[in-house]
Amino acid sequence: MESKAQLALLGDDAEDQVRWMLRRSSGAWESRRLQLLDTVPDVLAFYSEGSAALAADFYDDARVGTVGAFSATPVVLDRTVKIRRGVAWASFPLSTSDDELAAARFAQLMRSEMARPYRDTITTNRRNDPTAVGWKRITSSGACKFCRMLADKGAVYKEATAHFAAHDDCMCTCAPVFKGGEIGPEANTMQYMASKRRRSPKERAALKAWLDAAYLD
Ligand SMILES: [Zn+2]
Repeated sequence: MESKAQLALLGDDAEDQVRWMLRRSSGAWESRRLQLLDTVPDVLAFYSEGSAALAADFYDDARVGTVGAFSATPVVLDRTVKIRRGVAWASFPLSTSDDELAAARFAQLMRSEMARPYRDTITTNRRNDPTAVGWKRITSSGACKFCRMLADKGAVYKEATAHFAAHDDCMCTCAPVFKGGEIGPEANTMQYMASKRRRSPKERAALKAWLDAAYLD
C-alpha cells in the first residue's frame, strides 16, 4: 500500500483510540482531564513512532537506485509541552459537558500531532543525506489552495530553512527528492515565502493576492 494511505489509516486508528479513551474517562470534568493528561500523551507517542517508522521506510524505498549508502532514521521531536497544552485545550469543553466538541478537538490533536513525525523524518533525513537535494509536498485530494500552491509543479524545496507549513485538515505529506532522479523546478519566490514560519503584513498581502489570482478555491 502507498505510504500516504498507510499514514491515513494510522490516523483513523489514532482518532478511534482517542474517542474511546474520552468515553472511558469518568467523574468530574477536572478528573477526566487529569485521566486524559495521564494517558493520551503515551498513546500519541505510540502513533508518532508508527508514523515516523512509516516515513523512514518510505524514504528508504524512494532512495532505491540512487547513489551512496544511507539508511533513514525515524525522527520524533519532543512535543511534550505542546501536547499537554493540546490535551488541556481539547478537554476544556468537558467543563460544559460538551463531549462532542471535546471529541472533535481530541481527534484534531491526534491527527495533527501524529502526522508531524512523518514530515520531520523526511525533512531531517534529507538534510543529513548528501544524495538528497530537497523535498516536495504531496497533497491529499481536497487540499486547500494554499497547500495546492505549495505543491504546484512538483516544486522542490532545497533551502534547509524552508518550513513545512501544515494545515490539520489538508493532511499533506512530503517526499524526498534525490540527485539523478526526476527533479521538479525549485520552489519559486512565492512558494518559499509561504514556507516561512513568519511573514510580514506586506508578505501576507502579496501572498493573498497571488493565491486569489492564480488558484481556484
Ligand atoms: Zn491546506
